[in-house]
Amino acid sequence: MGDMKTLKFKLYQHKRNRHLKRTINAAGVIYNHCIALHRRYYRMYGKYLSCAKLQSHIAKLRKRNSFWQQVGSQAVQDICQRIDKAYQLFFKHNKKGVRPPGFKKVKKYKSFTLKQAGYKFLSGNRVKIGSKVYQFWKSREIEGTVKTLTIKRTTLGELFMVVVVDDGSSEVEVKTGRIAGFDFGLKTFLTCSDGTKIESPQFFKQSLNAMTKAARQHSKKLKGSSHRERARKNLVRKYEDISNRRRDWFWKLAHELTDKFDVLCFETLNLKGMQRLWGRKISDLAFGEFLQILEWVAKKKNNLVIFIDQWYPSSKTCSSCSHVLENLDLSLREWRCPSCQSVNGRDENAALNIQMVGASSIRLGDVRQAMPAIAV
Ligand SMILES: [Zn+2]
Repeated sequence: MGDMKTLKFKLYQHKRNRHLKRTINAAGVIYNHCIALHRRYYRMYGKYLSCAKLQSHIAKLRKRNSFWQQVGSQAVQDICQRIDKAYQLFFKHNKKGVRPPGFKKVKKYKSFTLKQAGYKFLSGNRVKIGSKVYQFWKSREIEGTVKTLTIKRTTLGELFMVVVVDDGSSEVEVKTGRIAGFDFGLKTFLTCSDGTKIESPQFFKQSLNAMTKAARQHSKKLKGSSHRERARKNLVRKYEDISNRRRDWFWKLAHELTDKFDVLCFETLNLKGMQRLWGRKISDLAFGEFLQILEWVAKKKNNLVIFIDQWYPSSKTCSSCSHVLENLDLSLREWRCPSCQSVNGRDENAALNIQMVGASSIRLGDVRQAMPAIAV
């Protein structure tokens, strides 16, 4: 099996789309019915309702309900499986504060997912879902085996088609013979082990300010008023505008980096930890999104992206002699190694360590041709 990738396409606006929206609503109703069944079952028998039981019961109900039939049987199965997964998570981690799945407002219900059946890609930019044909903005080719197709409704009521494909695996190709480690930061987005720094673009900060302003406007308006609805749409648009600009920048950066290096090493992100540390919404910075894009581009161009364990002390280890400090204050941008006396720039040192650990974890089979071609 190869790597999965996720492709997102916007659907053309069309009267026909109301069928998809109705399907999403019906999926929301089914979802809520499943939750109600779970709860009732638990009240009656003091036991958890298994996924198989839930599925067969819902399948029976669906046969007698034409509204429910708008949701394909595969999508119904998917709903049952998702709820089951959510309960399993809850059983496993309820002590850590994970909540059981709850009811959702049908108006806010966002999507339905089809697996192998219920859709067909036609020539050009057309896709048949159920018995109807829809058109989408085909921003790229859909290559590989389609695993799932999801129709999503945004808060603005637009429809997107999200396709997950298995693109068949491929090996790393040695092109530049170079490997690099990267350290993420707030001001400097990435510090590379070769000493270069990639600063966060100015619009990151500007756009954050614009967002804050729009959010303030929104919260000042009277609840339920048309002004508030307009402010909400404005806020959503601002947010989408920012995400788009940021995504553009991520794509460009991903291409630059994959042109420059064959192998790119990163630390696995501990987003929760970072949030605590920096006390702001890391999601704004969307490191995770960047990594997704980078992995996609790397896959396409036969580069290798390696993640090293987030618990490896990349900042506290001296990249010259491997001495490990007991602790290193966050405010220190530079430190002198007590063992070998070399002066380490905080981020460069971390990037160097990430590169070294990453390089040592490359398996021979990962790289086509000879390993010595990679200069560490
Ligand atoms: Zn040292």
